[in-house]
Amino acid sequence: EPILVAKDLVKHYPIKGGILRTTTGQVKAVDGVSFELLKGETLGIVGESGCGKSTLGRLLMRLEEPTSGTLDFDGIDMYAQKGAAMRKLRRDIQIVFQDPYTSLNPRKTVGDIVGEPFDIHPDVVPKSGRRKAVQDLLDLVGLNPEHINRYPHQFSGGQRQRIGIARGIALNPKVLICDEPVSALDVSVQAQVVNLMEKLQTELGLSYIFIAHDLSVVRHISDRVGVMYLGKMVELGTEDEIYERT
Ligand code: ADP
Ligand code: ADP
Repeated sequence: EPILVAKDLVKHYPIKGGILRTTTGQVKAVDGVSFELLKGETLGIVGESGCGKSTLGRLLMRLEEPTSGTLDFDGIDMYAQKGAAMRKLRRDIQIVFQDPYTSLNPRKTVGDIVGEPFDIHPDVVPKSGRRKAVQDLLDLVGLNPEHINRYPHQFSGGQRQRIGIARGIALNPKVLICDEPVSALDVSVQAQVVNLMEKLQTELGLSYIFIAHDLSVVRHISDRVGVMYLGKMVELGTEDEIYERT
């Protein structure tokens, strides 16, 4: 059963100038992408830099409006939602960013960072229960709940990405978009973070879009892999199917 159904997603950006400001036209960042993400599935999205992976990730969360195309989230036409209905949907699709060094505010404590989603959606956890909720999240991602008042610089790269993951799952979303979540980490901790994400998927019943620039990171965690090239999804299937065809 699908949780996310993308049909013919297109995102064009205007090309702005160049040094002589003579270049015109459009970058076809995402150029007609269709796929389904099934409930509980991990769909890896791979492709070289500039092929449109991040743009696709932003479209799937509606951080950007598409040029054209439709997106169904759990039976709801996502791009047609407005106001309160859209804000409610936003709880269900969260993101983990690539770089835990730039995506965590260095002036905020870990507790405040992990609790950011509760600021945006204050009805989810009452004020009096927030500290406990954040500590439970820290525990869930393998961090010491006692470290709630520390700052990002007091953690290693892998630990920082655990903080980003804790923030991503705080609202108990249905879909987590993981935009190269381990690419900025030391190889030695990449597997630990991927293993954590697998554990969370099983425990929380999450569906993942897992973006990476090469297959080696996603092959182990993904049920199916989509290969992007110049804005198009040129392959989509299990790893075996993709290798058989190429
Ligand atoms: P990837 O994540 O695979 O590296 P991106 O989605 O970041 O690819 O980029 C796809 C293409 O769209 C690239 O040519 C990029 O320069 C362009 N692009 C991405 N975002 C913007 C933007 N906000 N404005 C203009 N062009 C963009
Ligand atoms: P990634 O490849 O991981 O998406 P980039 O460094 O390519 O990272 O892009 C970082 C940010 O810059 C993104 O928000 C992207 O949309 C934006 N961006 C990328 N290419 C362009 C571009 N040609 N013009 C304007 N913004 C861009």
